Amino acid sequence: MNKSEAKTTHTLLKRIGAHFGKLENIGNLGGRREDGFDRPAWSHEETRAIKYIQGMAEKAGMVSSWDGVGNLFLTTPGHGNEIVQVGSHMDTVPAGGNYDGAAGIVCGLEAIIPLKPMWERLSRKLQLVIWRGEESASFNAVCKGSEAAFGLCHPDILLRTNHGVSLSEAITAQGFDPSFIAEKKPTLTPEQTEKIAAYLELHIEQAKRLQTDGVPIGVVSSIRGTVRLRIEVTGEANHSGGTPMGIRYRKDANLAMAYMQVAMHEACSYALEKGLDLVQTVGLLNDDEEFNKNHTRIFSNSLTKVSPYGYFAVDIRSNNNAFLAEYVKNTKKIIQEKAERFNVRVKITEILRLAPIEKLDPAVQHSIEASCRDLKIPFIEMPSGAIHDAAVVASQKKKNGNPIPVGMIFIPCRDGISHNPAEYASPEDLARGAQVLSNVLYRLAR
Ligand SMILES: [Zn+2]
Repeated sequence: MNKSEAKTTHTLLKRIGAHFGKLENIGNLGGRREDGFDRPAWSHEETRAIKYIQGMAEKAGMVSSWDGVGNLFLTTPGHGNEIVQVGSHMDTVPAGGNYDGAAGIVCGLEAIIPLKPMWERLSRKLQLVIWRGEESASFNAVCKGSEAAFGLCHPDILLRTNHGVSLSEAITAQGFDPSFIAEKKPTLTPEQTEKIAAYLELHIEQAKRLQTDGVPIGVVSSIRGTVRLRIEVTGEANHSGGTPMGIRYRKDANLAMAYMQVAMHEACSYALEKGLDLVQTVGLLNDDEEFNKNHTRIFSNSLTKVSPYGYFAVDIRSNNNAFLAEYVKNTKKIIQEKAERFNVRVKITEILRLAPIEKLDPAVQHSIEASCRDLKIPFIEMPSGAIHDAAVVASQKKKNGNPIPVGMIFIPCRDGISHNPAEYASPEDLARGAQVLSNVLYRLAR
């Protein structure tokens, strides 16, 4: 081992302990339950965890500023008008893990602090951004904090509730102002957005490709877009014993839904055979608790009835925008055809449509790869299947008409498990991620 490698290893080992401690502490800030971690959007637990990081950043000499909805920006002192951001979120899904989001913040902090001797000499400032409420589990909307920063949130989401509290009330309770969302007014001024030279985000992979391939770093090339549909099918209740088989006699909602799903799966397989990027999941079938509160027809089903009503929700993702739009159109057609075949009525509601980021910034991606080579850390290029705040930032254009340059780094998580209390990233993988991040920040800010 040469001198520089010995130094690298030393730094790595030193950081392993630091990361582990910080994540443990975040997990113990009141959000821990028997069955996992719980830091919903705009909850006291989320605020407490954000303030914990704020305390450490300020102690290191960074300057903090909250925006109108409660996103926190922690900036290094120094010169230069522009900033290089590294961001992530602190909220979790109910009974979730402690690494989805929080790992990105801890690694971001650990990437910025070791550069302290250089802060004043860099030509750009460094900024750690802690976004509010990224998970759609609370208030049924994704990336709420980052979207609010750029004025992208739909005002309707303020009325959505989590445990009986509206988003508007939750934001107010944490001391912030929901009128930014109500009026679609960005919390960041156009000047502030213009100053963002680049945005980086480190995240656990939430799949097991890195672990399977034995590679410690994923350099994200694209972020899949999403379309979510709710399909409600109305048939007719009839006696299961007395009603003969066949559509002349039966309008069977359950049977129609089964055929719809098989046909959708076949369409998906066909697209995959053609080499297109696509994932498709029916995650809800008659069992959306929130939806069932207002749609009690679902409870009229019974074992001895031809099914009068049912619904399912499908989540469709691709990193190819034109294909995704075409595919969703075709999916709706398939559903209609099956409804006609089984003599039932169908209502298709689009719950969400988010365009993919087909290509993250090539220059930032190149910097991440150069940093990995520098540190002799193996990497692979890969798409992100999940949505991240990075996608919201990458959708924002600067005055020159180009999007804000965005890059993402994935680190492995054990067995690909995420949104689960068993979620885990090793201190070694966290440390390696922070090292790469630190190296990239330096490249982009020097
Ligand atoms: Zn996340």
